[in-house]
Amino acid sequence: MAIDSTSSQPRRACPKCGESIVATAAKCRFCGEIFEDALRASSEAPAKVEKIGFELRGLGGFWMFIGLLLGLFGFIEFTEPGGPDAVGITCMVLAPVWLVVGLMTRFKRLWAVYCGLALSYLVLLGVAASIFTDPDPLAAVLGVIFIGIIVLTHRSIRAARKMVHAGVPLN
Ligand SMILES: [Zn+2]
Repeated sequence: MAIDSTSSQPRRACPKCGESIVATAAKCRFCGEIFEDALRASSEAPAKVEKIGFELRGLGGFWMFIGLLLGLFGFIEFTEPGGPDAVGITCMVLAPVWLVVGLMTRFKRLWAVYCGLALSYLVLLGVAASIFTDPDPLAAVLGVIFIGIIVLTHRSIRAARKMVHAGVPLN
């Protein structure tokens, strides 16, 4: 009996005939439909997926770093006499959120990338608000860093969605 070497690969339904085909196939073996997207993606896919993975590991690492900073700051607030203030408690609550979002982004989970993007926008809003009330060069630097992170995140999401759309698995 011949062994089907393609059986372990991710599959998708052919958009034309509905038969189950290999996700990265450039042509349906049932109806002969040719998928230009997949054809283009299949030759470039490994390099693109590698690049997306590299970017997401970087973004996730940055978000985990923010979580660690928040946790450290919150911890210091908790050890101070008189106990933590509202900022300290907020940091303690947000720290695990950033850590989980960062970790899952490193595992290429798109929902986590969207969460990290939303969190980064919130930071940018907060920084912008603080600059208006109290101009601070450190806040300005933080704002520029987060603008860069947000741009990079949008780019990675676009690239990742394109891969998923073409039927190329990210993992
Ligand atoms: Zn087909």
